[in-house]
Amino acid sequence: MPALPHQKGCAVLLSGQAFVRPGRHYKEEDDVKAAIFTGAGRPLTIREIPKPEPREGELLVRVAACGICGSDLHATEEGVFLQEEGTILGHEFSGVVEQSADPAFPPGTRVTAVPVNPCGSCAQCREGYPMMCATNSITGLAKDFPGAYAEYITLPARYAVALPDAVSFDEGATVEPLAVGLHAVDNANIRIGDRVLVIGGGPIGQAVAAFARAAGAASVILSERAPARLKAGPLFGATGTIDAGQEQDVGAAFAALADGPPDVVFDCVGVPGIIQKCIGLVRARGTIVVVGVCMKEDTQIPFTAIMKELRLQYVLGYKENDFARVLAALAAGLVRPLPMITDRLTFETLPAAFEQLRRPSDQIKAMIFP
Ligand SMILES: [Zn+2]
Ligand SMILES: [Zn+2]
Repeated sequence: MPALPHQKGCAVLLSGQAFVRPGRHYKEEDDVKAAIFTGAGRPLTIREIPKPEPREGELLVRVAACGICGSDLHATEEGVFLQEEGTILGHEFSGVVEQSADPAFPPGTRVTAVPVNPCGSCAQCREGYPMMCATNSITGLAKDFPGAYAEYITLPARYAVALPDAVSFDEGATVEPLAVGLHAVDNANIRIGDRVLVIGGGPIGQAVAAFARAAGAASVILSERAPARLKAGPLFGATGTIDAGQEQDVGAAFAALADGPPDVVFDCVGVPGIIQKCIGLVRARGTIVVVGVCMKEDTQIPFTAIMKELRLQYVLGYKENDFARVLAALAAGLVRPLPMITDRLTFETLPAAFEQLRRPSDQIKAMIFP
């Protein structure tokens, strides 16, 4: 049985159903609550676990809020993302430092953190891309790095970021998905006055729309099917919306709203066929940014992209300093993410709500408040 460095003696996490902790058959005073993944097809289980202990260079943080991400759902379904039993999910969080060996984060500091655990010294780490470090594990998406569907979490102080006073815990827990949007927009080279099409109005699509507008795009049109997500568009950055469930010709609908074809198209959906659609929609010499994660085989006809001399840009996560930039944008009121939070959960309501999120619905972002 592999050792769990963060949680001594919690072999119970590996045992699936049985609540048997060798040598500890009663609730300890320092036990804390966490939602445990116990296998595909089973709802998350709320259990008492030993309070995690910070290792060298780590902070112990009492979790205030944690967002539920699409990747968390994939992590609990059969497929390449499937996590081991015993994993504690949650990589979009905020909280208060309770124990710290780092003077930059004294107890009481309100924080969020880049949810990475990289080597810290390879070329990718040195260039600020910890997500691309060959040895990186994402907090909350690896059994050995338990996430924030829990009362407490430990994390490397190096990747913690203090929340400015003007930023609430709720907003702090949206920094991670917002950073994905910021990084996508950074890679789009948007110019003042550009026309932008965002396909998909989930949290990432909304974040992309917000930062595209902030980057100077004159038109930001959101294409989406779910009514609540369409309605939220203008609260973020969308200057117009296209109901993709009703509208047959998205290109014509876009041109009618923006007075021309898109200079940049963001794919925030990630399903087979969508890149070819983007190739058809974007203007000649335009840019396609692939943000959505498609895990299936896909085909394109390169000729159609060659004839337009398109740029196809893939993006992954964010850079190390993007969290600080998002927080600066939040503190400045440049982006207001609270309409993103459509569902507020507790440990009691989490397991059922988590299962419900697997079916298409009107939620944008569900958040747990441990
Ligand atoms: Zn996420
Ligand atoms: Zn590295």
